[in-house]
Amino acid sequence: MHNIDITNNISDSLHSFFLNNTFSQKIILMDSNTALHCFPLLPVEIKNTSHTIIIESGEKEKNIHTCQYIWEQMTHHQLDRKALMILLGGGVIGDMGGFCAATYKRGIAFITIPTTLLSQVDASIGGKLGIDFQGLKNHIGLFTNPIKTFIHSEFLKTLPKRELHSGFAEVIKHTLIADKKYWNEITQNTLETQNWEKNIQNSLAIKSEIVTKDPHEQNYRKILNFGHTIGHALESAYLKTNTPLLHGEAIAIGMVLEAFISFKKCGLPRTEFLEIFKYIQQTFPLSPIEASLKNKIFPYILQDKKNTNNNIQASLLLQIGKAVFDIPITFQDIESSIEYYNAFRPH
Ligand code: NAD
Repeated sequence: MHNIDITNNISDSLHSFFLNNTFSQKIILMDSNTALHCFPLLPVEIKNTSHTIIIESGEKEKNIHTCQYIWEQMTHHQLDRKALMILLGGGVIGDMGGFCAATYKRGIAFITIPTTLLSQVDASIGGKLGIDFQGLKNHIGLFTNPIKTFIHSEFLKTLPKRELHSGFAEVIKHTLIADKKYWNEITQNTLETQNWEKNIQNSLAIKSEIVTKDPHEQNYRKILNFGHTIGHALESAYLKTNTPLLHGEAIAIGMVLEAFISFKKCGLPRTEFLEIFKYIQQTFPLSPIEASLKNKIFPYILQDKKNTNNNIQASLLLQIGKAVFDIPITFQDIESSIEYYNAFRPH
């Protein structure tokens, strides 16, 4: 895996990086939580020689207004094109900070230090950067890679449990689309007994192999969207309720629904579908999908980036460990999966 340093000593890793790379200035972007919990773990020399930008935490900040504030701060500190931005945080900081760095003066270098499980196993690889716009997730953005990513599982120690859960959904997805052996390993453990170092290694290896084959998501990379066609739409619809879901919580439901459609349409064995449903329902609080919410998700599904000519195209499972992409599905398929889910999820 080029560009990624999975380290157990973030100070040593950063020291050797800065010994070999020089920049005119450094600026660290973080949110209020990573400023509190993660910034103290950085080496003193780097903290003392960098400017900092701190924004509020959360998905609600991932918008053009926050970008404007970040660009203003970069301009205020007179960063030139040889400056470096250091992104210290979860997927919001990584996606939005990378977007700001990649567009400031037509692009300056940036490194990422992902601090959530989700950003370590997923957002840190593949070069997708961007922001939400007019209620649509990741609607504006581009592909650019950081010059280096440093992954240190120590950061996970301060991560709220709900956030750890959310990231675990992407780990589950990686096993389901690409590696039955890895699925068997993780399902022998609860969230508390997972080996995070190993999971991070395995997940990054899977994502890296997929992204290397298809960097710009022309075809094969689409398998990474398993669970996301319906999951993203649920995430957007729930955002407007009093009980919004985290990304991974929505994807967990999306994976159950899309596994059901895989069983109906792609020959995913019934026993494997039931195995998936059982493990996900043991691991996640699965919210009901009320009728009013169900109607709200369809417009979002129509906005999905994988669709062509208004046809919904999903990535589905042939079996655990093997996925296919560009499978046309209908609203009727989705309705049936929701009916099954509502009837059989734990009450
Ligand atoms: P996040 O960045 O909002 O972080 C979640 C919460 O954890 C925040 O409140 C944050 O302040 C806090 N936090 C982060 N690290 C912490 C730590 N070590 N200790 C304590 N608190 C900590 O969200 P996320 O779940 O990391 O990422 C979600 C975002 O990632 C979404 O915007 C999603 O679209 C994006 N994403 C991008 C890709 C990609 O390929 N680029 C892939 C998946 C998701």
